[in-house]
Amino acid sequence: MDYDTYGSGAVEIAIDLANAQLEAPETFLTSHAEWFAPGTALTLSGRDAGKVRETSQLIRAVALADSQEAVIARLNELLALARPRPYATDHDGELHLHYASADSPALEQLTTTVAMGLSQVVVQHGWQRLGVCSAEHCDNVYVDTSRNASRRYCSNTCASRSTVAAYRARRKA
Ligand SMILES: [Zn+2]
Ligand SMILES: [Zn+2]
Repeated sequence: MDYDTYGSGAVEIAIDLANAQLEAPETFLTSHAEWFAPGTALTLSGRDAGKVRETSQLIRAVALADSQEAVIARLNELLALARPRPYATDHDGELHLHYASADSPALEQLTTTVAMGLSQVVVQHGWQRLGVCSAEHCDNVYVDTSRNASRRYCSNTCASRSTVAAYRARRKA
């Protein structure tokens, strides 16, 4: 299993975007500033802010899809927004790829990065690797990095909360 692909920031930013509240999409951009080329204006028009929300919903749709066919269809919808023009960089001390042209607008850099990051995971590791948390009252998206693809929760917090709830339910019964 190639952990680097999963651990790569492009996947993390995609998962973060799917789980973000996005009342103010510009806040999302500034909190993920490392993914934007230096000098990129991290501001969005009202229309572009709407597109950030749409992209978030598309990532969620990929995670919710329950067959390879559905994952492919939704992933391709997401990829249709991407304008890849990759370049290698070591701006943070580690050699890695950025997927979008450094002089493209923030929205284009964002959609391209998340679409390419998610596609890498799905194509290399299988369509079941993205999921939605099974805990009650949580619908966070996660990427499953476990060896046997057995993950069901977005976080350890949700996993242990669900274990406790199941234990209580059994004791009550
Ligand atoms: Zn980087
Ligand atoms: Zn959760």
